[in-house]
Amino acid sequence: MTSNHADVDDRTVAALTEVMSVLDSVGRVRNVPGLYLVVSSSGSEYLVDMAEGRCECPDDSHRPSVTCKHRRRVAFVIGERPIPEWANQDALDDQFGLHVDANSTRAVPDGGVAQVTADNSSVTQSGNGPFTVEPGDDPRTKRAKREAIDVSFLQKPGRYEVYSELDSVYMVDVLEETCSCPDEASRCKHLRRVDIEIRTGLVPRPDGRLPDA
Ligand SMILES: [Zn+2]
Ligand SMILES: [Zn+2]
Repeated sequence: MTSNHADVDDRTVAALTEVMSVLDSVGRVRNVPGLYLVVSSSGSEYLVDMAEGRCECPDDSHRPSVTCKHRRRVAFVIGERPIPEWANQDALDDQFGLHVDANSTRAVPDGGVAQVTADNSSVTQSGNGPFTVEPGDDPRTKRAKREAIDVSFLQKPGRYEVYSELDSVYMVDVLEETCSCPDEASRCKHLRRVDIEIRTGLVPRPDGRLPDA
């Protein structure tokens, strides 16, 4: 414990040392400036939007004042935030910056750690269709509405196949309320999306019957 590092918290340490991969050229983040995919050692994937200052992980999306370790990691990897001097090269995760075409920078001895400022994003509203994002929607519901997700009915009862923007295919069971994706939240965006599509009649109902015309 050294008092010099009062501004260093656990999330920063985690951002520097935990095993994570930051990707900027796959699937839904390919060629999208400011968007990164952070894959954790457990296999969870989180979309980080550096322009909006957002990450889809529970830590970040449930607490607006928090800058989660994924966002911090991306900031270090792309050089937006200098790697603090105290961070021993050996302690850094081996994956550091391997997958991103940017150079991380190290802080100069007397330099402070730059703060990443995140402006508050505003939600645009238009109309009120089933895919309209409402201000009260939580982040997963927003993504369930916004993202290019394809749902198709697979088998009775309640099995659906979900194609995500990342070219991944997940199995959703609406009766069991399960999804095969790595999201640990109780209701991931795929489940939410399937629910929305069932409610709006875009896919057959769980019993396989076609929606009423
Ligand atoms: Zn995060
Ligand atoms: Zn899912």
